[in-house]
Amino acid sequence: MDVLNSLFTKAEGLGLLQPFTRGNNGQRISLYADDVALFIRPTLDIALQTTIGSGSTTKFWTDRWIHGNSINDLAPTMLLVDHRWAHDIQGGLSLIGLYKLFQLTDILSDFVLTQEDDTHIWRLDASGQYTAKSAYLAFFNGATTFEPWHRIWKTWAPAKCKIFLWLAGRNRCWTADRLARRNLPHPERCLFCDQEAEDIQHILTTCVFTRDFWFRVLSSFGWKLCVPSRHEFSFSDWWRKSAKKIQKDKRKGFNILVVLGAWIIWKHRNACVFEGARPSLDNLFQAFKDEHHLCMSWTKGV
Ligand SMILES: [Zn+2]
Repeated sequence: MDVLNSLFTKAEGLGLLQPFTRGNNGQRISLYADDVALFIRPTLDIALQTTIGSGSTTKFWTDRWIHGNSINDLAPTMLLVDHRWAHDIQGGLSLIGLYKLFQLTDILSDFVLTQEDDTHIWRLDASGQYTAKSAYLAFFNGATTFEPWHRIWKTWAPAKCKIFLWLAGRNRCWTADRLARRNLPHPERCLFCDQEAEDIQHILTTCVFTRDFWFRVLSSFGWKLCVPSRHEFSFSDWWRKSAKKIQKDKRKGFNILVVLGAWIIWKHRNACVFEGARPSLDNLFQAFKDEHHLCMSWTKGV
């Protein structure tokens, strides 16, 4: 939470944070502490718009029947009087309360109840009718999609490998860069190449040692063109670009190679860090072949 606190302190210093008002401003804020991200998206109560007829199916205080607004929006201080109407109000209202009361009375004088039914329009669906699907999708408005999710979760591979790749794609692995940010002991340089700083994208994609490994794996299947270069932006980006180069009927097999390869690289890196093993391309390749063979056996039901 330290990171989150510093984020708020900085945002406050930059004047980006505004005090909350009692009124409903039509926004909902979600905080994801570990991601240090802040998303703002509309709440669902603004999705329902009511046109008043007889008033029999409309909630006076909370439905949005006053030109798209509710009483809560227009005069939030009125709610302090416990959902009672003007002649029920006892004691003194504040100046703001009185102002809101007169303003509201003025607005409400424009409305005349009729014999027609009230209409309630669900604005998140073209039909105007409420659907659970449209409400569910609205929760994701403004959300960013983690691009490789489909390849990760749809690829046939053990769950441990897929979970690792999910974390790797989000830079959640405990490599030197992440350890350093938390002032924890960390290797000065990548243990594979001893040349560059270690982060998960480097280990899985651009490290010279790793690229040799990918060359060995991919060229044995005739996919030399997919070997990552030292200028790749990230592992996920390389995977996305490479998968596009593969014929559709072979893409599944390619994705399995990538998932298993990344997992084996990570295991080898951990063996170097925690067990003092020396980086060995032969050992890495052999471990990959064993894992791949095992996986293929499982997929064939052996
Ligand atoms: Zn390296």
